[in-house]
Amino acid sequence: MFTSITGRAVVVTGGTRGIGKGIAAVFARNGARVLITGRDAAAGEQAAAGIPGHVSFLRADVSSRDACQDMAAAAQERLGGIDVLCANAGIFPGARIEDMTEEDLDLVLSVNLKSTFFSVQACLPALRQSGHGRVILTSSITGPITGFPGWTHYGASKAGQLGYMRTAAIELAASGITVNAVLPGNIATEGLGDLGANYTSQMTEAIPMRRLGTVDDIGYAALFLATDEANYITGQTIVVDGGQVLPESPEAVA
Ligand code: NAP
Repeated sequence: MFTSITGRAVVVTGGTRGIGKGIAAVFARNGARVLITGRDAAAGEQAAAGIPGHVSFLRADVSSRDACQDMAAAAQERLGGIDVLCANAGIFPGARIEDMTEEDLDLVLSVNLKSTFFSVQACLPALRQSGHGRVILTSSITGPITGFPGWTHYGASKAGQLGYMRTAAIELAASGITVNAVLPGNIATEGLGDLGANYTSQMTEAIPMRRLGTVDDIGYAALFLATDEANYITGQTIVVDGGQVLPESPEAVA
């Protein structure tokens, strides 16, 4: 058995739905105290109320440095500190190379990549204070390992998070803070559902386990990285994809 994380203070960005809500639920079920953030206040309050345990919501847009500072201040006030930051908020709108506007690019890089810098920077004093701080990034297989048409900006943002992670892990190691990433494959979430039934059935066929992942699948990987037993793992990635990156050709899955 792993040492309990009961009472740990956890911040999850993008916790109003999808993977972030799932991560928050897994941590709360294991006795942690959780602050979730997002832009949709109604969904956020509903998500916090619907997760059994100690969970509250703060409206905060991760693409704003000031909002990330507010998030860290709220965690300090409500939870007395921050032991774990799950930098999870992200978007995945499609745009082909020839059609991509500067606004398309800026939005994806701001929400997915700049947010990583802002949220870690804001939470850093509390993570140092914790003595066993954990940063857990939600990256993706898309970018670091695979590609998909329409997602050059998204893939670059998700690969960029890993570039950030490797140097952050070195900079923060002496403070006892680990920085790792979970790389989800295709996980059943509201956001993935927005891509349509064709997309999800195409993906399911490409996954050796023949199913989309669940938000719990990602939540438990994050929980492991937050345990005391994972304290010597830093700057690393865990792929959680049902084997999706393994096949050399579609025939290998047939
Ligand atoms: P989702 O269902 O669309 O949920 C996205 C979450 O991010 C929501 O809580 C949303 O909250 C929040 N968010 C979006 N923009 C934000 C902003 N500017 N500031 C604060 N919060 C913001 O998506 P998901 O599928 O759970 O994806 C979550 C993360 O996993 C993303 O980083 C995504 O890239 C990654 N991922 C997902 C998959 C997958 O298959 N689902 C695969 C690989 C990686 P509000 O709308 O309330 O702001």
